[in-house]
Amino acid sequence: MLEADIKAQLEQYLQMLEGDTVLKVSAGDDDISKDTVALVEEIASMSPKITVEKADLPRTPSFSVNRAGEEDTGVHFAGIPLGHEFTSLVLALLQVSGRPPKVDQSVIDQIKSIKGEHHFETYVSLSCHNCPDVVQALNIMSVLNPNITHTMIDGAAYKEEVEYKNIMAVPSVYLNAEFFSGGRTTIEEILAKIVEGPDASELSDKDPYDVLVVGGGPAGSSAAIYAARKGIRTGIVAERFGGQVLDTMSIENFISVKQTEGPKLVASLEEHVKDYGIDVMNLQRAKRLEKKDMIELELENGAVLKSKSLIISTGARWRNIGVPGEQEFKNKGVAYCPHCDGPLFEGKDVAVIGGGNSGVEAAIDLAGIVNHVTVLEFNSELKADDVLQKRLYSLPNVTVITNAQTQKITGTDKVNGITYTDRDTHEEHHVELQGVFVQIGLVPNTDWLDESIERTRFGEIIVDKHGSTSLPGVFAAGDCTDSAYNQIIISMGSGATAALGAFDYLIRN
Ligand SMILES: Cc1cc2nc3c(=O)[nH]c(=O)nc-3n(C[C@H](O)[C@H](O)[C@H](O)COP(=O)(O)OP(=O)(O)OC[C@H]3O[C@@H](n4cnc5c(N)ncnc54)[C@H](O)[C@@H]3O)c2cc1C
Repeated sequence: MLEADIKAQLEQYLQMLEGDTVLKVSAGDDDISKDTVALVEEIASMSPKITVEKADLPRTPSFSVNRAGEEDTGVHFAGIPLGHEFTSLVLALLQVSGRPPKVDQSVIDQIKSIKGEHHFETYVSLSCHNCPDVVQALNIMSVLNPNITHTMIDGAAYKEEVEYKNIMAVPSVYLNAEFFSGGRTTIEEILAKIVEGPDASELSDKDPYDVLVVGGGPAGSSAAIYAARKGIRTGIVAERFGGQVLDTMSIENFISVKQTEGPKLVASLEEHVKDYGIDVMNLQRAKRLEKKDMIELELENGAVLKSKSLIISTGARWRNIGVPGEQEFKNKGVAYCPHCDGPLFEGKDVAVIGGGNSGVEAAIDLAGIVNHVTVLEFNSELKADDVLQKRLYSLPNVTVITNAQTQKITGTDKVNGITYTDRDTHEEHHVELQGVFVQIGLVPNTDWLDESIERTRFGEIIVDKHGSTSLPGVFAAGDCTDSAYNQIIISMGSGATAALGAFDYLIRN
């Protein structure tokens, strides 16, 4: 089952096993069962600390990872955890054997405090780069708390179950058989949904900051590190620490690092930020800011934080197409991440809305998986780079329609088509298909601000060369500003500029 290089890697990891581990396998006569048995036996043959037992588990084929002689951990894999899930399997083996997971003690304490039965199931595709983080988070929870179980389910191995539940986006997490969450979710986000977080008064009681950063993406992290290095009191409020980078698969233009992955870069950012003792208030959303004696930032939970200066780095999010059917069929055929959700549309017909670089890249990627891709572009020609267009037009299963204005996404319980009008002839057309990938760019996260912060007509915060906004003491950086380009390295640079601008402001005022 395992290729030579993967086997060599695994052999090294298995030397780190602490206690004895039992893999319990439930298998039938089908091919996936045979592969599952072959995989667990191969793994067991590589370490004297692993044994295999036959078992009757809720799903066949599947296997569970357990400590020898102890109650079952509840960590199950239904389907073969290779591809992106191979790391999840390795970590499960190590953690079940007794190796401590790499999470903060406060997170461990929260997990251990969870009462009541929590049975999680995560539907994944093995090519989904967002899935392993969710699987690994829930496996950690399952290992640490006997009230929690978690099963990873490969959608390709459990097609009927996926069809029955109408799952058209991964990861899709179910808790006690009810839908719980979709998309990449960190362990902190999962905990925030089931454990009570800090209350508003706890946050409002905090001492005022010298610099308070709103947003925990590359711009916010860089701004906070630059501020903290000046020895001043610095805090970060972030709805989701890491920002867009969490959703990025491969990064090859972060200068000095030839190649990395988004979640890896976010882990380094977090480590760097924590190294400076910055007060990180993750999973908190800013709602309003007002300048009084100090700048006051109101959060969604009602807390009010005070600071002498503030840096807005709230980034951007996928732009919605805003037609009927988009919200209704989100995760029921309407998708935004071709890398994650593409495999669920294998052999089906899909549309990509948007003919820029991201739309055309998505179409090329999808054309290798699905039956047919229709690209709908609003303008009279595609805007993507020539090299991408050439590749796209060379594909036999892609149709490009320009001058197309999307009118609606149709369906019953899931998407069954898309309707557009030809902007030249005003004729309406309908294409029957099962998936729609929306790729029409980004919109800045600035709708929570009032007129005191001047913005462009696209909502981008206008900043000067020091990162200052129209409100003295308030600075901005990254994708939420009117910067010409949106990139990680550019956001980090502008975060540094805004922090130095804020420090300058503090010593003059
Ligand atoms: C799929 C994808 C692939 C990409 N690939 C690359 C690449 O290969 N190379 C590259 O250089 N760039 C890439 N980019 C672009 C890059 O990710 C962005 O330019 C960069 O992340 C912008 O950083 P930022 O800090 O300004 O904003 P973001 O990364 O968007 O972070 C914004 C932060 O603000 C928080 N936030 C938002 N609203 C609020 C609120 N009201 N209250 C509190 N917090 C809030 C968010 O939770 C988040 O923490 C990619 C982007 C995407 C989507």
